[in-house]
Amino acid sequence: MEERATSRPGLLVIISGPSGVGKTTITHGVERSVPGAVFSVSCTTRAKTDADREGVDYFFISDARFDAMVREDRFLEHAEVFGRKYGTPREWVMDRLAEGKVVILEIDVEGARQVKEKVPHAFGVFVLPPSEDVLLERLRHRKREDEAQIQKRFAEAKREIARAKELSASHGVYDAFVTNDDLARATREAVSLVEARRAGATARP
Ligand code: 5GP
Repeated sequence: MEERATSRPGLLVIISGPSGVGKTTITHGVERSVPGAVFSVSCTTRAKTDADREGVDYFFISDARFDAMVREDRFLEHAEVFGRKYGTPREWVMDRLAEGKVVILEIDVEGARQVKEKVPHAFGVFVLPPSEDVLLERLRHRKREDEAQIQKRFAEAKREIARAKELSASHGVYDAFVTNDDLARATREAVSLVEARRAGATARP
């Protein structure tokens, strides 16, 4: 299996979407279901929560360390989200692509824009809520923040959706939009899209 994978070209997959839309579940569904798929663990300066696993969900690093990595050009992309820095380690991603893996990046719209500039064949998927009302309900349901925080995330989510659509029209940043009306269905759709692109990528000379 491993040898077959090494003879295939790698595929870089970007999955984005506003908070509360279910993109982490969809991302992990794609990672589990697509053969040869691996999740790229980002570096972040945000505080680690009890739910986070170091080195599995993120590498939690200091501001100084993050800035040093930027100076050393060790990020494929990096951006600030909610006032915290996030970046994709370049070398790990490039090594996995060279091995023929499907590398999944769960990153924001700004990061996606940067990646598409550097790797134009990257496949961008943006996860949408079925409606704004549903998104607001989901953000409240998570019980992770107070109402003021929730409203901030909601406003940011609406901006991010508008920006994703705008950048796709102008720069083709996202190749597909998946509406999460039902988590299992949306995950299946994302998996099919990635597999179809993978089949297309493999057929490319
Ligand atoms: P959270 O802190 O809630 O896990 O993630 C906050 C946001 O940061 C999400 O939209 C997530 O997709 C984005 N994000 C996570 N890692 C990266 C990264 O490496 N680069 C960029 N640009 N965004 C990221």
